[in-house]
Amino acid sequence: MLHAQRKKDKVVIIGSGWGGYTLLKNIDRKKYDVAVISPSNHFLFTPLLPSTTVGTLEFRCIQEPIRTVPNLKEYFQGKVSKIDFEKKIVTSDNIFKKEKSNDIPYDHLVIACGTKTNTFNTPGIADREGIEVHFLKHLFHARRIRNRILECFERAAMEQPGSKERSYLLSFVVVGGGPTSVEFVGELHDFLFTDIATWYPDLTKEVKISIIEASDHILGSFDKSLSGYVRRVLESRKITVMTSIAVKAFDHNTHSVTLSDGSSYPAGTIVWSAGLQPVKLVSETLSHLEKGPGGRLVVDECLRIKGVSSVYALGDCAVSLTAPLPPIAQAAKQQGKHLAQCFNMNQTDVSIVVSPFQYVALGSMVTWGGFKGAVDMHNVGKNKKEIDLGVFSGVIAYFTWRSAYWGMQTSWTNKILIPMHWFKSFVFGRDISRF
Ligand SMILES: Cc1cc2nc3c(=O)[nH]c(=O)nc-3n(C[C@H](O)[C@H](O)[C@H](O)COP(=O)(O)OP(=O)(O)OC[C@H]3O[C@@H](n4cnc5c(N)ncnc54)[C@H](O)[C@@H]3O)c2cc1C
Repeated sequence: MLHAQRKKDKVVIIGSGWGGYTLLKNIDRKKYDVAVISPSNHFLFTPLLPSTTVGTLEFRCIQEPIRTVPNLKEYFQGKVSKIDFEKKIVTSDNIFKKEKSNDIPYDHLVIACGTKTNTFNTPGIADREGIEVHFLKHLFHARRIRNRILECFERAAMEQPGSKERSYLLSFVVVGGGPTSVEFVGELHDFLFTDIATWYPDLTKEVKISIIEASDHILGSFDKSLSGYVRRVLESRKITVMTSIAVKAFDHNTHSVTLSDGSSYPAGTIVWSAGLQPVKLVSETLSHLEKGPGGRLVVDECLRIKGVSSVYALGDCAVSLTAPLPPIAQAAKQQGKHLAQCFNMNQTDVSIVVSPFQYVALGSMVTWGGFKGAVDMHNVGKNKKEIDLGVFSGVIAYFTWRSAYWGMQTSWTNKILIPMHWFKSFVFGRDISRF
């Protein structure tokens, strides 16, 4: 006898980053109809993004296209602008045609829309974004930074030695002293003093690289001893590290930043990596929902949003008030995997039973160029049961960093391409063309 096939529940995932993509990869797509809505049609492996700003790695080898995930039911390249929790409908605005939108019904909704860069309304920063000022969050940001660096060298090469133009064009300012900034500065330094030094020998002598951090030390999330050590290493490479000082404004007419002590500092290129803030979907569309520190959506220990049925949030856009986690990839990834496992275990179509999420800290890693890095294993393990395995740094830590990120690649294409690009940039140098 033929049985009518039960309609599958539809899971809609907002966002294709660490949280959304991990959920998508792990959920049983034969059991659920899964739809993804995201303005990025790919997953970006963010820890390797700084390496693409100078060509140590090429852009395409650190991303995975969403549509290539087998059995994905639907993908919408759009931004969610409205959610009707009563009718269970999400509205996605087409990124190509502003006036067009799609209404997508859901049975279960997962919000994993991440955060955006916070400029703290600093005058001159948002206005000059994409020209002298650059964020470092998406692949297109990395591509712009790479072009800007090369543009500065080509333009400086046509200016008189010691001229004001040459001075600002060769001044690179990184705002924020977190791991992303330190890794970017390490990559930039390696690029300038290996590849650029070969092709523009006169210019590298005039290069200035600076990190400006508002708190009293860089690498705030790492062990304090490491912060001091990395600062000394960077300073030994003639990189200026300024702490307890903030950037108050950028003036593109004078090509300088104004600092909180009133002084000004030349800046031809600014990489702004100083803070995060909620995306419009969270801060405006979902303004009626409860928010925690950093304006993140409050979720319970099972990643559910209170007061609305079958809606979950994870990753950087969400926070549990009882067990808050920092906005890092490993938290978003573990949450995505946990939710997928809960969905997969579900036996009925009545309601999904989600068990409480428990985070397991796996340590943190950072690199600062020159084939050096550190692995901080101070607090590893399950929440409140962490153990201290200390910190190790140097070349071994650097290769641990590389091996770990290589191992985390989800496609064989990138597992092959990444070491090829590492080999190519080490043996033949990084590419210096601009297009
Ligand atoms: C350069 C860089 C380096 C990093 N290095 C590390 C590291 O080494 N280790 C680590 O643990 N963490 C690192 N992080 C942090 C890590 O990337 C984030 O914590 C992680 O990406 C958070 O995952 P998520 O899924 O919450 O958000 P994201 O990965 O930011 O993904 C959010 C997704 O939502 C989409 N989206 C946004 N708005 C909408 C909307 N309205 N509608 C639909 N979709 C929307 C976005 O396009 C994106 O696809 C790094 C971050 C950066 C930028």
